Amino acid sequence: MDESLIELEISKTFSLQKSNSIRLRESTSDYRIKQLENLLDWIKTHLDDIRKAIHADFKKPYSEIDISEIFTVTSEIKYVIKNLNDWMEPKKVSRSLALLGTSSYIQYEPKGTSLIIAPWNYPFNLAIGPLVSALAAGCTAIIKPSEMTPHASALIRRMIEELYEPDTVAVFEGEVEISQYLLSKPFDHIFFTGSPNVGKIIMKAAAENLSSVTLELGGKSPAIIDKDVDLLDAASKVIWGKFVNCGQTCIAPDYVLVHQDIQLPFVNALNDEITKMYNPKNKGIEHSNDYARIVNDKHLVRLNSLLSDAISKGAKVEFGGKINVNENFFEPTILTEVSENMDVLNEEIFGPILPIVNYVDIHEAIRFVNSKPKPLALYVFSNNENSINTILNKTSSGGAVTNDCVIHFLHHELPFGGINNSGIGKAHGHHGFLAFSNEKAVLKQRVGLTSSKSLYPPYGFTGKKITSFLLKWF
Ligand code: NAD
Repeated sequence: MDESLIELEISKTFSLQKSNSIRLRESTSDYRIKQLENLLDWIKTHLDDIRKAIHADFKKPYSEIDISEIFTVTSEIKYVIKNLNDWMEPKKVSRSLALLGTSSYIQYEPKGTSLIIAPWNYPFNLAIGPLVSALAAGCTAIIKPSEMTPHASALIRRMIEELYEPDTVAVFEGEVEISQYLLSKPFDHIFFTGSPNVGKIIMKAAAENLSSVTLELGGKSPAIIDKDVDLLDAASKVIWGKFVNCGQTCIAPDYVLVHQDIQLPFVNALNDEITKMYNPKNKGIEHSNDYARIVNDKHLVRLNSLLSDAISKGAKVEFGGKINVNENFFEPTILTEVSENMDVLNEEIFGPILPIVNYVDIHEAIRFVNSKPKPLALYVFSNNENSINTILNKTSSGGAVTNDCVIHFLHHELPFGGINNSGIGKAHGHHGFLAFSNEKAVLKQRVGLTSSKSLYPPYGFTGKKITSFLLKWF
């Protein structure tokens, strides 16, 4: 479609959603649950379509699609359906003595119109997960999926068109220009998942309309391996967390900090785990159906230059390093002897390269983490509760997991998100519902102290008496 026609279509859809969002303020939990049930039914009856579309984009293995794209969404929908009545219920709050005679509660009203901008790495999960929260909160939504995964984006569009009227949910596919045009509209809430650099652009655009934002961003999530650790267990979990989706996961361990006394056995264990998971029959990782591809050549080139930069500055390749440009294949790669002047230790890697940094004591590892922007996730592998607590208490990250990685994403009751450079606001479950809701403070006056009007001008004796009483006792 011609760009100006798309702009026209966006303006028309935005106006329709604006009007509908006012009607939706009074939408019941039954209505919202029905919308979510329809979504769940569609997903369940189109599992193969979803798998094929996502696989077509970058050969994500079907098992990974099932767990990380489909299950994440269906379990979220079920959890929301189960709890929505309770979340929508106004919450009574107690009052202080100064407001005696009044009653107050928090009313959860939908923010209104919302815009969901999604990335390519989990194209279904990261577009539809936020939609579940938007529908639960009673918002309308326009979704802008990533242009880098055209098959998944087309499937999302088809699903939404089959399920919803455009005044409730609509999809606009396209490049950055479409995103920019959408951002010029005064949405009530913008839910963006993507890189910190684009997150800044989104926040600036949102500021023009004072739209609230949830920014789910990225960064460099460390995995810290203590000396006192179950080495083989830690190695297999780090390898799975790092190389699932070919390293293109926002919460993948970006780099490892390992105690220097165990670096050698740990690296050997990492190498063994890669072989066990991706090359069990010794046919070559390239032939494994369980290993995805890099999303496009632009990212392959970016990753290749990260690797070249590291090697040229003295990094040692302990495993991998092989690339096939015709296939967008990038072998799982482990690097040691890395130093701070290398790009791999400064940029978010977002691909299958794992640099290993060693430390001599836990405080050195903590200093290293704290010298970088706050990460989206932090992983600690240790049998020592003291070391774990020291690390958790002395670092700041959006989320943290001990003796495992990545799986906190699946927990509906944990707020998911980053802090500062890795994100603003939280998603999932109740936290997602709140992100799309306005917590309206409602105070109902009845016969309270303040209704006597003795505190109004002209300020007289009774008013002064009441104020000094309040100052003295409250
Ligand atoms: P990206 O920021 O390049 O793009 C994300 C979306 O923003 C896409 O839909 C894209 O079209 C749009 N976009 C790009 N440039 C834009 C601009 N100038 N103006 C307006 N819109 C623009 O991110 P990506 O490459 O798709 O995804 C990778 C990044 O996302 C990584 O940094 C990763 O860590 C992060 N991420 C975070 C999470 C999370 O939950 N926190 C999840 C997945 C990915």
